[in-house]
Amino acid sequence: MVPKQSRYDIKFYKLLFLMLITGLIWLENEGVLAKLDSTSFITPQNHFLPSSAVHPFVPPAPSQTPKYISIGDLHLHTTCSDGRNEYDILLKQAMKMRYDFIAITDHHFDDTPICRENIRKCKAETRLLCIPGMEITGRVHVLAIGITYSINEKLPLKQQVEEIHKQGGLAIAAHPFAQGRRYSEEELIQSGFDAMECGGINPQDWQTFVDLQKKAHLPCVYNSDAHNVFQMLAFNRCEGKVNSLEDLKQAIQENRCNRWE
Ligand SMILES: [Zn+2]
Ligand SMILES: [Zn+2]
Repeated sequence: MVPKQSRYDIKFYKLLFLMLITGLIWLENEGVLAKLDSTSFITPQNHFLPSSAVHPFVPPAPSQTPKYISIGDLHLHTTCSDGRNEYDILLKQAMKMRYDFIAITDHHFDDTPICRENIRKCKAETRLLCIPGMEITGRVHVLAIGITYSINEKLPLKQQVEEIHKQGGLAIAAHPFAQGRRYSEEELIQSGFDAMECGGINPQDWQTFVDLQKKAHLPCVYNSDAHNVFQMLAFNRCEGKVNSLEDLKQAIQENRCNRWE
């Protein structure tokens, strides 16, 4: 026979165990666990995600408290190309993340009905700032944000950037150190980019990145390159309101955007 005292002990531990499990389920539902794990989340599909390293060129904090921090992701895929999210699902997640801005950057621009419908919805979006764009998918990848027509990936890199600017868009070097799509130093410095993606850089590339930044002075942006909602884990934090493409351009140019930690 189990002594009375010990029976109470067993009940107590059972209760404690149940509370622990309930707590974990609650944390999972609230998305807290996913966030905790976010910096180590790397899959082959998502070749561009935050590293644990801290970017060395984060500008010093302004003397007065910033009025508003806008957050958003400028590299998102949908079912227009190889992403698994339909526009509406992506938007739902962006709202959950309380984003102020997003850019849709599929591998095509407006050549299929789904892509055209995305652009239409994105332009008419009232819940947040949605900027249509594309990821020009040549030897290296270029984010063309805020463009009005498709850009040919066969154009030389410098001309792609010029074309983006001609259309009033932002040109961002996407995952510049990604295997197989790596930029040369010259390409990053001399193509006229507005910014480069600075997250997810491998430790072995870190010194190259630091040296390059000293020469190129390219503002950094931090995007997820998400192909499904579970990969929407990296985003930019920009000081000040970002309500338009012009606001975004200015915030990036003034180095007011840095990574979410
Ligand atoms: Zn890419
Ligand atoms: Zn991409």
